[in-house]
Amino acid sequence: MITLLSGGTGTPKLLRGIRCHTGDQKINVVVNTAEDVWISGAHLSPDIDTVMYLFAGILNTDTWWGITGDTFLTHKALLDLGTDEYIAIGDRDRAVQIARADLLTRGKSLTEATTILCRKMGIKAGVLPMTDSPVATMVRSSGEYVHFQEYWVRCKGSIPIDAVKRVPESPPPATEDVIRAIVEADAVIIGPSNPVTSILPILECQGVREALREQYVVAVSPFIGQAPFSGPAGELMKAKGFSPSSLGTWELYRDFTDLFVQDDRDTVTVPGATRLDTMMTSEKKSKDLAEWIFQLIEVHNR
Ligand code: GDP
Repeated sequence: MITLLSGGTGTPKLLRGIRCHTGDQKINVVVNTAEDVWISGAHLSPDIDTVMYLFAGILNTDTWWGITGDTFLTHKALLDLGTDEYIAIGDRDRAVQIARADLLTRGKSLTEATTILCRKMGIKAGVLPMTDSPVATMVRSSGEYVHFQEYWVRCKGSIPIDAVKRVPESPPPATEDVIRAIVEADAVIIGPSNPVTSILPILECQGVREALREQYVVAVSPFIGQAPFSGPAGELMKAKGFSPSSLGTWELYRDFTDLFVQDDRDTVTVPGATRLDTMMTSEKKSKDLAEWIFQLIEVHNR
């Protein structure tokens, strides 16, 4: 069994390659839920949705969110009615979010709701929300905290930010399924997801760092030089007081990481890091990176 810690873009790109080397039933993915929001009466869990859609073979891999070929009739109708739906939600995508909201309001945990949705979509991998407790990433701009989605989607990341916090501030418990998936895996892979908004929320869940310290962990950097491959990871690292680079990422993970992978074009030096081509611009490149990582894990496990 292999377990990954994932956000909604960088790690799913690697997962696309990992799936080519091992059966889905041998993969568990612990997924960030700190970007979740209730919107238009439904429950959006963007990273869980991306991972589920990838395994179901319906993910839009141009954007790495939403369902390929989806329509936006309801979103447009809601805007015409004057609602403030600032995230463009596709019609089929919305159906999943409504179904999840229905399960949650009828008392199911997020883990149970995700299991039910995965079963309905024929998914064989384990898709595990990091926690069943609500938690949100908030960023501070001009002295006020706003939800990460407000910053990144509504404001398109164009407002200055100078602090990041999780609400509530006390760490939520990881689920038992999450701890078991980490402890029982042959190895754990932290894909190149945004450290501050995707991976740290998982690491902050009670019990996760301790479990990782007992495991063989491979972590892949989402940075090349002083910038991420895409998205706001650099601004968030700076707002959190870390270097926006592979070195800053390694410092966040070093207490439990056995093998740190950075891109072979990266100008930043991380002590002891392995250099690979991590730019997953095609399915073939995702597959190649996954194969190298599997070989490194096999060498360790021999
Ligand atoms: P989010 O939930 O949509 O923010 O997605 P993630 O946190 O999973 O991933 C975002 C990170 O993926 C960004 O910081 C990017 O730098 C990184 N990323 C995207 N594509 C690639 C790639 O091909 N290679 C590497 N190494 N990182 C990537």
